[in-house]
Amino acid sequence: MLFSQDIGIDLGTANTLICVKHKGIVIREPSVVAVAVGAGQKKVVAVGEEAKKMIGRTPGSITAVRPIKDGVIADFQMTADMLRHFIKKAMGSSPFARARVMICIPSGVTEVERKAVHDAAVSAGARYVSLIEEPMAAAIGAGIDVTAPRGSMVVDIGGGTTEVAVISLGDIVCSRSLRVAGDMFDDAIVQFVRKKYSVLIGERTAEEIKISLGSAVPYDGEGALDIRGRNLIDGLPKNVEVTSEDIREALEDPIAQIVETVRTTIEKTPPELAADILDSGIVLTGGGALIRGLDKLISAKTGMPCRVAEAPIDCVVTGTAICLEKDTLNIGKGK
Ligand code: ADP
Ligand code: MG
Repeated sequence: MLFSQDIGIDLGTANTLICVKHKGIVIREPSVVAVAVGAGQKKVVAVGEEAKKMIGRTPGSITAVRPIKDGVIADFQMTADMLRHFIKKAMGSSPFARARVMICIPSGVTEVERKAVHDAAVSAGARYVSLIEEPMAAAIGAGIDVTAPRGSMVVDIGGGTTEVAVISLGDIVCSRSLRVAGDMFDDAIVQFVRKKYSVLIGERTAEEIKISLGSAVPYDGEGALDIRGRNLIDGLPKNVEVTSEDIREALEDPIAQIVETVRTTIEKTPPELAADILDSGIVLTGGGALIRGLDKLISAKTGMPCRVAEAPIDCVVTGTAICLEKDTLNIGKGK
C-alpha cells in the first residue's frame, strides 16, 4: 500500500534542511559532497556533515565540494546525488512513493537547473514536486502574511547569496540577488587576518571566528579569540589573537554591500509599498542574519525598522512546511 508523505526542502548553498509533515525538521546538514576521483570516475564518498569535516583535510584523491555555490548549481550530478541522499535519509523507512515535495531553491538558478532539481527529486521517488522561490519561502517562514495587500520586505542572507525582496499579494514585487553573504564574510576574515597578522587561516576557522565574534556594530561583551594558522613568513603554525573589533573591520565591506542593495531595492519599490515597509519593517532571515547588530545597522542606514526573524536559519524550510500544510503549492513559484 502507498501512503502520501509531504516533505519540504530548503536546498541552500550552505545548508540543506528537510522537514517531514507531522515530524518537523529532520535533516539539517551542510550542502557538501565529498567525492573520490579515480579512473576518470567520480564516486560520492560522503555527504553532509561528514563531508564538511573533510573540507581542507582531504587527501589528493578526495575532494569535498559544495555543489551549489554562489546561488547557482555548480555541479548538476552532485546536487542530484546529494538531494537523493538527504531525501532517503529524511524518509527513513517511510514509504515515499507518493510523497509531495516542495523544494526551495536560490532564485538565481536557471530554468535548466530548476528542471535538474525537479528531476532529482523525482528520481529519488517523489510523486509531486513543486519549487518555490527563496524569498517567498523565507517570508512565509518568518510569519509574514504574504497574501496581504501590503508590502513586506525580507532579506535572506545565506551562504552564497543575499536575496532582498518586496512581497505583496502573494507575489514578489521587486527583488535583488547579491552574491555577497556568509561565504564572503568568511573570505573577508581570511583576507583580513592574512593582511594584518601575516597568518593564513582556512575557511572553516574563519567561519568559527565569524560566529563567535562577528558584528556589524559594537556590542556588549566584545572579546577576542586565540586562533591558529600558518605563518606566512616561515610557513609554520602560529597563534594569533583576533578581536571583535578586528572582525567588525573585516566584515565592513561585504556588510556595506548588503546594506547598499537593501537601499537600492527600497528606492525601486513603488511608494505605497515602501510606506508599508516603513510601518512593518524589514525582516532578516538566513544564517547571515545572525551577525550581531546587523538589524541595527540596516535600520540606521535605511531609516526603516528592521528585525531578525525568529530562528532565521529555519525560516525557509518552515515556509515550505506551511505551504504544504495549507496546500498552497503554487505560491511564489516565479517563472
Ligand atoms: P543557505 O540558505 O545559503 O544554505 P544559511 O541560511 O543556512 O545559508 O546560512 C548559512 C550561513 O550562515 C553560513 O555562511 C554560516 O557561516 C552563517 N551563520 C550561521 N550561524 C551564524 C552565526 N551565528 N553568526 C553569523 N553567521 C552565521
Ligand atoms: Mg537559504
